[in-house]
Amino acid sequence: MKHVQTTKHAVIPANAPANHHALSKPERPLTAHAANEPMPKWAKYRSEMASEFPSPFRGTKDPLAEQIGKFVSRLDQLRPEEGGPAFLGKSPALTYEYPAVKNVEINQEMGDLDTVLDDVVKLFEGAPNWGNPLTMCNVIPQANTAAIIASMLSQVFSANILEGEYAWNVHRAELETAGMLGNLVGWDPVKTGAIYTWGGGGCWTYGLKYGLTRVLPDSMLKGIRTDAKVICSQQAHFVQRNASAWMGLGMDNIVHVRTDVDTNQMDVVHLEEILKDFAAKKIPVATVVCTMGTTDASAIDPIGKVHKLLDRYPNPEGYGKAVLYADAVVGWSWVYFKDYDFENNPLEFSDRILPILKQNGQAMAELSYADAVGIDFHKVGWAPYVSSCFLYKNAEEFEKLHHWAPDAYLQVRTPYNPMYYTLEVSRTASGSLAGWATLKYFGKAGMQAILGGILETKYYLYDLLEKQKDMVCVNPDDSGLITLFRVYPKDVDARVQYKKELNDTKSRADLIKHNELTKAVGDKLFEWFRAGKQIDGKYTPYMSFSTGFRNTEYNREGDDAEAVIYAIKSFPMNVFVTPEIMAWALHCVHAARDEVLRAQ
Ligand SMILES: *Cc1c(COP(=O)(O)O)cnc(C)c1O
Repeated sequence: MKHVQTTKHAVIPANAPANHHALSKPERPLTAHAANEPMPKWAKYRSEMASEFPSPFRGTKDPLAEQIGKFVSRLDQLRPEEGGPAFLGKSPALTYEYPAVKNVEINQEMGDLDTVLDDVVKLFEGAPNWGNPLTMCNVIPQANTAAIIASMLSQVFSANILEGEYAWNVHRAELETAGMLGNLVGWDPVKTGAIYTWGGGGCWTYGLKYGLTRVLPDSMLKGIRTDAKVICSQQAHFVQRNASAWMGLGMDNIVHVRTDVDTNQMDVVHLEEILKDFAAKKIPVATVVCTMGTTDASAIDPIGKVHKLLDRYPNPEGYGKAVLYADAVVGWSWVYFKDYDFENNPLEFSDRILPILKQNGQAMAELSYADAVGIDFHKVGWAPYVSSCFLYKNAEEFEKLHHWAPDAYLQVRTPYNPMYYTLEVSRTASGSLAGWATLKYFGKAGMQAILGGILETKYYLYDLLEKQKDMVCVNPDDSGLITLFRVYPKDVDARVQYKKELNDTKSRADLIKHNELTKAVGDKLFEWFRAGKQIDGKYTPYMSFSTGFRNTEYNREGDDAEAVIYAIKSFPMNVFVTPEIMAWALHCVHAARDEVLRAQ
């Protein structure tokens, strides 16, 4: 960047190195024109803007630091008083009409900095407050301070981690993430690679692409001309469709493995049938995806067994080995319990949750079998968006397979130049700094404490549900943070009724009726949250529901779109959540059910 220009009317911005007077008087940028000549208009605009750009030099006021302090405070003003609703600001309403909102033009005149930033703050009116303990709608955490600041800092000097030159030591955050997470998973940290990318969807896409490139060796040049398969469970995330479609493989090449009715895990017997069949027909498999923590049921697929099966049924001659990708974007942090000292229990978790922590830790210990793992720090990692990390075991292989060619446009100045094998070109360092700062700030004990603490609250809710005759938990075997449950009319024995609806075709009509009730209760709760409704002087929780987290027993193949189980969802992610909030949530669900039935 050249600050100093030599044309007649060139302006030297505030603090430019060429003139030391500018350093002492940053408010009045100097121009190179004679004092008696009027400043050209464009130069006036530029000098005003330059005084508001972040200052390149120390020792003067920094407009950036000042404004950040001021506007973070203004944003914070939107938080409610203690006990307030789960949205920000005063008005929970949407402030625009769609699509009329798009009928807008750029102003002719330059804007005023404070006014623009005030308008930004206004956009947050009514936004969900992820820090409010009443918020338990989905896997969206309040971001931790270290991660927020780290990710903001990456914006200040625009660290671009496409290659070493433009980020310099900042890209060490990505390399050390590879090391720290490689160690955590149980791989050789130095051989592990990491690419921060655009979400869990991006991680899945990388996992699929890895398989396609390895299995179809000439596909980097010739494209994908073979119907290679991608195999995942019935409960795998919907991003399977985006990834297959956008990669050019096509959604028809996704093959679903049945899941166990009780555990929701991939059924390895069915997987074996599928692999045997493809081997016999000489159809190659590109990628097998084990979901290590499904979005709704927190089910962890038995990846160790899947790994063995892949060795038993290799791809036909001429194709590479299938990639085993672990979609752990939501469940990854349970791996922190793989080496926890359960004997001495140093963090003093209750006996209620110790066996669950152990079970989760052991299941996630098998992550080491994966070729690559997707990790979302912006889910169960308490970091801001987007901070997803695609982690791969054999960095040398992955990077060589996807290496296209050097380019004259950029020069290699450091040993680390991921642009040669990443899908993106420019890549922000913001996700990598958020993830790295979280790893360093939480340590192992901090992550275990946050996770375990929320799990304690989840089981408090579970035990409370057990005491409600008209409610039933429908994912009692799931060991994640989510509780899924159904609420029935007051006089119905929820356990007996649910069992019939789950197993018996004769109860199909009842199932559908109670699915509708579940949805209506879920919608009512959302409406109450959005309206800022209070019951007995207290605000209602922000919850959600699933319109089919699993199929009924008699609909295992999913042919009957309506024979599925709806459920109210509690997904506490909040470090401020308490048992009292959980009891309050159930109280509000009952109240919503009563109101829905009254209105019928
Ligand atoms: C959320 C989720 C995804 C998608 O991740 P994003 O970060 O939202 O792109 C993929 N897989 C699973 C299991 C998920 O829970």
